[in-house]
Amino acid sequence: MDQIRIENLELFCNHGAKPEENVLGQKFYVSATLHLDTRKAGLTDDLAASAHYGKVSRRIKAVMENNTYQLIERCAEVLARTILLEFPSVQGIDLEVKKPWAPIGLPVEYVSVCVHRRWHTVYLSIGSNMGDRRGYLDLAVERLSGMEEVRVTKKSDYIVTKPYGNVEQEDFLNGCLELRTLLSPHELLAALHEIEAMAGRERKIRWGPRTLDLDILLYDDRILDSKTLTIPHREMHLRRFVLEPLSSIAPYAVHPLYHCSVQELWERLQAGETGENTVEKGK
Ligand code: AMP
Repeated sequence: MDQIRIENLELFCNHGAKPEENVLGQKFYVSATLHLDTRKAGLTDDLAASAHYGKVSRRIKAVMENNTYQLIERCAEVLARTILLEFPSVQGIDLEVKKPWAPIGLPVEYVSVCVHRRWHTVYLSIGSNMGDRRGYLDLAVERLSGMEEVRVTKKSDYIVTKPYGNVEQEDFLNGCLELRTLLSPHELLAALHEIEAMAGRERKIRWGPRTLDLDILLYDDRILDSKTLTIPHREMHLRRFVLEPLSSIAPYAVHPLYHCSVQELWERLQAGETGENTVEKGK
């Protein structure tokens, strides 16, 4: 991706863990590399197609001067987030905050914190089989759309599917969403759990009825297996209620473990080559 660079913007601000730093102030340098596609601006000579580096620099100055943080880690995090939220063409940012007068009593040129932050593409499965099923799915979309760090970019149609597991229960309504988000996988999972709780979801019976079930299917091409989160979702390639709606919004998204497209996974499932009856269950 193309880059626009802002090098060593000099500022005088009050950040620091020592109280006197918050009063006396000191010099900081901020550098930012904006990751964006400059092709259109390059062809049309139109600034609106790019990111205005003057405006970005002034936002950096305002955030740095109008706040007092203990840590330069905090400065870097807030700056990166602000630029990504306020400049839509910027897809990612490398941000460095340098502190040349860091009071460590040693002759260091500067200390600094560098962060890389960017928008991530995520696919979610959403499902409900209790009460106002469509209302619960719409509530999930509405809550996600209302979050500053999340953008719902695609939504599949909802489909009716038979319940999973051996518990006697109502049919499900299922769909898939594409999101752009600044949240990490675990932060996103926590946000999904909050939305499920808001919909009155109680985690009682495995594969039992639920007002709202929100699962992360894919997060960029990330592979992750922690105690609370597995990405790609372990059973996504086995489930019709995932692959049918997902293939309608993201047929060419690639499963990073199987190295094939969602469309291919869906075709294999329909052909009976894979599926819940052919593979052992377990989340
Ligand atoms: P569920 O009953 O479908 O809501 O899933 C129960 C638990 O599965 C959640 O509390 C998560 O900690 C865990 N889990 C593991 N991987 C995922 C994933 N990709 N998306 C959502 N939940 C997951």
